[in-house]
Amino acid sequence: MNRITTYIFIRCVSMIGLWPRLIVVMFNYDHRRSKTFKNSAIGVKLITNRFWKILLSTFAIIFVSGTAYALAVPGPHKALCPACYGLTEIAPNVFTDDANRVHEISAMVERSRNTTQRFFGRNLSSPRMILCATDECNSIFTDSIIRGVAYGSRLIRVSPEGLNETIITHELTHTEVFKRQERLGVFATLGGAIPAWFNEGLAVHLSKDDRFKGNADQENMIWALEFKTYGDWSDRVTRDNWPDAYDSSFALVKHLIAEIGEEGLRQLIEDVTLSDVDFYEAIAPHLKKIISS
Ligand SMILES: [Zn+2]
Repeated sequence: MNRITTYIFIRCVSMIGLWPRLIVVMFNYDHRRSKTFKNSAIGVKLITNRFWKILLSTFAIIFVSGTAYALAVPGPHKALCPACYGLTEIAPNVFTDDANRVHEISAMVERSRNTTQRFFGRNLSSPRMILCATDECNSIFTDSIIRGVAYGSRLIRVSPEGLNETIITHELTHTEVFKRQERLGVFATLGGAIPAWFNEGLAVHLSKDDRFKGNADQENMIWALEFKTYGDWSDRVTRDNWPDAYDSSFALVKHLIAEIGEEGLRQLIEDVTLSDVDFYEAIAPHLKKIISS
């Protein structure tokens, strides 16, 4: 947050507190006028004008405060205008703060897109990518330490630690899965039509993330099956157990690949997103070994 935005933010916040009192004072002013004046044509016009001025001023102050707040705090909303924060568009919809690494970063993105295309058959998403090479850039868009994140199918943000093919492929896998779920609607997506564990396990698989081996035990795999929605994921996955969560999700996806192959996974995603098949019903026969052994 720079000094100017901090100043505007503080001024606007202090004005929000002042505004209701100002409205009360202005209305009290009208109340003190005589009934005859208030009922006269001039009185009605004056009070009506005052009402509209108060209303429009209130909206204006809310708008200015909201804008000041949005400018002051880090967040994905700043991806609406990456150039405003000094990022360069190195390929269509791909932004970075390190214009000296154009070739390297563009090639990385291209390889990641090829990987997801090979699996899905066709890339349907074309998310805006914010690829930060420095902490300074990263702090504009987030205050978290997460290496990469996909916001639905529209936006990917990657931190300096995540600026590599593995993390970009991981996030692109998510945008492809989210894009395919859009047909089902936002509630089905949020409700885990395609469960969070599957989305994460598939992302680890396609990105060949060697931090995870996918050799979780049965207990951990059953634990991961409970991460149906991203709400479940964020409720239960912590700073301590996140490696287990990813590894267990990957183990489940590896198990499914052993059962039905990558082609089976692709078909499963299609069945759920295009034919309204229930994910858990579709995989139930393949989970028997895990659940009943
Ligand atoms: Zn992920």
